[in-house]
Amino acid sequence: MLDKIKGGLFGVAIGDALGGTTEFMSEREIKNKYGQLTDIIGGGVWQLSPGEVTDDTAMTLCVAKGIIQYPDDPIPHMGEEFLSWYAQKPKDVGIIISQVLTTYKDNWEEAAKEVHHRLSGKSAGNGSLMRCLPIPLAYSDQKKMEELTIRHSKMTHYDDLASDACLIYNRIASRLLNGDELAVSLREETAGTLYEEALTSEPDCLPDGFVVHTMKWVVHILSNRKTFEEVAVAAANKGHDTDTVAAIACGLKGIETGYGQLPERFKEKILIQEELSQVAADLAEIRRNRQ
Ligand SMILES: [Mg+2]
Repeated sequence: MLDKIKGGLFGVAIGDALGGTTEFMSEREIKNKYGQLTDIIGGGVWQLSPGEVTDDTAMTLCVAKGIIQYPDDPIPHMGEEFLSWYAQKPKDVGIIISQVLTTYKDNWEEAAKEVHHRLSGKSAGNGSLMRCLPIPLAYSDQKKMEELTIRHSKMTHYDDLASDACLIYNRIASRLLNGDELAVSLREETAGTLYEEALTSEPDCLPDGFVVHTMKWVVHILSNRKTFEEVAVAAANKGHDTDTVAAIACGLKGIETGYGQLPERFKEKILIQEELSQVAADLAEIRRNRQ
């Protein structure tokens, strides 16, 4: 189980670090500049060091640390982690999250609702989907996992489209942790949803920050690429919100693959390997203790 949990967290970090180089570029621009980006080299719009991660991994760690501090009721602790991360002035904060973190007084859902209205109802960004993976890693109880997944999304993203995507994603993660195959999990959890068609046909949208577009591309890439490396490279070269799409896709692929089988050349580049390993061990212990 620890190998799967660690694989999921490192998957997020690897996708983020690889895709961080090509964020906001179009598919054509990436092709012209890199041919195909296959290595973690840093640079890009955020001028990353090779192996440096962005908000996707940072916020995933905030969620994980909130759980580790108080697994019975982690939401307020996740919130404190979000605020202290934001206070360090990270270079890459999404618009919705930035607005909610500056609006928040004492009630997350109210802050998210206020921002939702301020943005004329456009609060279905991919910012809760990109950070939600620690929840199924820590909670094997399906009811608790699902309740926390929804509440956690609503802390910043008022729109049901965001929490619905998180729910589908985390249900797939739970299945993988229980030993189900990725192809089966994807098929059964997307059945009858907005994402079913993406299993077989290429989405007719850009892989941008709208959670529905992000999730369609995640589903499509996961169901049409075999190895972890193929998933990571496909997402990082498709353009637009590359780091987030790659982080989300590689989180699931990392659970399926397991930490031990992740490509060495990716793992060794990640700058926060120690922190990720420690958090994975802590989440695995919570999962064990709650069973
Ligand atoms: Mg990012």
